[in-house]
Amino acid sequence: MLEVAALRAGYGPIEVLRGVDLAVGPGEIVALLGSNGAGKSTLNNNVSGLYRPFGGSIRFEGEEITGASSMHIVKAGLVQVPEGRRVFPNLSVRDNLELGSYRRGKPHRAANLERVLEIFPRLRERLTQSAGTLSGGEQQMLAIGRGLMGEPRLLILDEPSLGLSPLLVEEMFGLIGRLNRQGLAILLVEQNVVQSLALAHRAYVLENGRIALSGSAADLARDPDLRRSYLGH
Ligand code: ATP
Repeated sequence: MLEVAALRAGYGPIEVLRGVDLAVGPGEIVALLGSNGAGKSTLNNNVSGLYRPFGGSIRFEGEEITGASSMHIVKAGLVQVPEGRRVFPNLSVRDNLELGSYRRGKPHRAANLERVLEIFPRLRERLTQSAGTLSGGEQQMLAIGRGLMGEPRLLILDEPSLGLSPLLVEEMFGLIGRLNRQGLAILLVEQNVVQSLALAHRAYVLENGRIALSGSAADLARDPDLRRSYLGH
């Protein structure tokens, strides 16, 4: 579904990604792990069209999307939910959600809104509230809800558990599993190694702009190098 090959990317003269190969197949949850500054967000931002790669190729459902606009990429069905709670604080919950669907036309928007509100009943109760007044966890749900409004076939989630209480982290991982069982492929960018490997089918570990380890999530969870580097034992 998503095929990233020999991707090189960075900022001005700085090369951050130095030849990254990564794939996400239909129906998969793939975790992208790595310490701070490893290049996870850089990979995301290039895949979703916010930056133009230096070299290599990105294909989505067979189509070359390297250097395509983010609008084109969203329309093709690849939607990124950015790190943190990048909602529009002064807009209502409803307006935030509808912005995620504005490229899909009105009939789609109503159906998508209903679907998202079934997934997040808490947002239904708060449709007219301004997004800035939601709790942290609710804002994270809103950001994901807005992503779902774009009718993704592949959803890239950038640190969805960041800043959430342990209970909400559980809830978030449960939700990601449910979305996946409904057929959505997910690239999960996370620092939360244990829970990500428990949920994902496969995983990649990015280190210094290169894939240092990859394999089935079950195998990686047992990998001594990974355990030493990320779990401290
Ligand atoms: P984190 O988990 O901390 O978010 P990350 O793995 O997502 O880290 P990136 O944000 O991709 O890492 O950053 C990789 C490297 O690129 C870092 O050294 C960072 O300083 C650098 N970098 C990121 N954004 C820019 C930018 N806009 N201009 C220049 N350098 C940048």
